[in-house]
Amino acid sequence: MKIIIAGGSIAGLAAALTLDCIGHDVQIHERSAAPLRGQGGGVAVLRRMMAFLEQHGHHCRDMISVPTHRRHWIDRDGALARDEPELLPFSSWDTVYRSLCSMLPPQRIHYGRQVTGFSQDAEGVDVHFGEHTERADVLVAADGTGSALRAQIFPGYAPSFAGYIAWRGIVDEADFDAAAIATLVEYMTLHKAPGELFMAFLIPALDGSLAQGARRFNWLWYRNETDSESLRRHLTDRAGTVHHASIHPGELSERSVETLRQLASERLPAVLSQLVMATRAPFVQAIFDALSPSFAHGRVALIGDAACTLRPHTASGTSKAAHDAVSLAQALTPDAADATDAANVVQRLAQWSAQRREEVATLLARGPQLAASFGLGQPL
Ligand SMILES: Cc1cc2nc3c(=O)[nH]c(=O)nc-3n(C[C@H](O)[C@H](O)[C@H](O)COP(=O)(O)OP(=O)(O)OC[C@H]3O[C@@H](n4cnc5c(N)ncnc54)[C@H](O)[C@@H]3O)c2cc1C
Repeated sequence: MKIIIAGGSIAGLAAALTLDCIGHDVQIHERSAAPLRGQGGGVAVLRRMMAFLEQHGHHCRDMISVPTHRRHWIDRDGALARDEPELLPFSSWDTVYRSLCSMLPPQRIHYGRQVTGFSQDAEGVDVHFGEHTERADVLVAADGTGSALRAQIFPGYAPSFAGYIAWRGIVDEADFDAAAIATLVEYMTLHKAPGELFMAFLIPALDGSLAQGARRFNWLWYRNETDSESLRRHLTDRAGTVHHASIHPGELSERSVETLRQLASERLPAVLSQLVMATRAPFVQAIFDALSPSFAHGRVALIGDAACTLRPHTASGTSKAAHDAVSLAQALTPDAADATDAANVVQRLAQWSAQRREEVATLLARGPQLAASFGLGQPL
């Protein structure tokens, strides 16, 4: 089958790979003009995706990276308050992205191509790129949490704000004296205060290197936000544009960066506030829950954040996107005995959607539970 994917981030790339593995003709259309870079920090290792790819002859061990074995909770003075095992090995967004890209033939990814909509009939789907249209058997919407394709299918649906934001940053290990960060390189370090949670851990260098001194720290500072005017301020970038859910690195206003640094010096243990102070391009993400009313609409399948946006502290947004891709490929695996495969696609997608949505809804529910245990999240 000919399959067009809208969105060339983790979900789109993962689906292109899994669908390619089972013999479909797949093309990705990504609206950014160039490959993406540094979109996020640490991500959980994509075990199920890796198992699927290995099964289909791709060697992807380089997706694995810095293992963090223990979590250290520290108090305001930096003293150890609790020590517990860290069960998730973390990789980094860039490592996973680069690894997925390297496994796909480059001619499969078309940059600077925005999908503007679609129309479908019994035989196929017309995918629109402004004035230009391409015909496919299936369209996969991997266009992220603000999915325009989801909005076309379910115009009344909107994600809900979870009541807190995350300030975030990535900073080079080499920017610090080894002694000042000795405990941070060994452990995932967390600090909790009423209505807020800070966490920091090591991720690989941009080029994937795990060499000491080349790695980076990823930090996140979750804070409740109960005031809609303050939320609007957080989401207003340096050019004055108000964003829906996040502001990218380098685009925070001077005032936001100053507020962040001021609060860090007042509220965080010194070993953690040094990370915030040294971060050149902090960014912010408002936390939303999104679960599309369905993951399929005729010949259109929704995956990744377009289908369901999980809370970042569940550390599963990327691995969920990869699972979506694996399960979609399993649903669309050609059946040699069934010559009417392409015609059955609507039925296969409907079945896949019902099952996958149920699995994902369970994952989604974990976010608010975990947040509540940290004292995060109150309705505005
Ligand atoms: C600011 C931020 C930080 C994050 N940090 C982490 C993290 O540290 N760890 C983690 O596990 N997860 C993180 N996530 C979530 C994680 O990135 C996603 O869950 C995961 O990458 C799956 O996303 P996706 O591919 O579905 O969507 P996205 O990564 O949002 O990608 C959507 C892609 O679609 C493209 N696009 C959008 N509209 C169109 C269109 N009409 N036509 C063509 N292309 C289009 C966009 O340019 C983009 O490349 C973060 C998310 C955000 C927003």
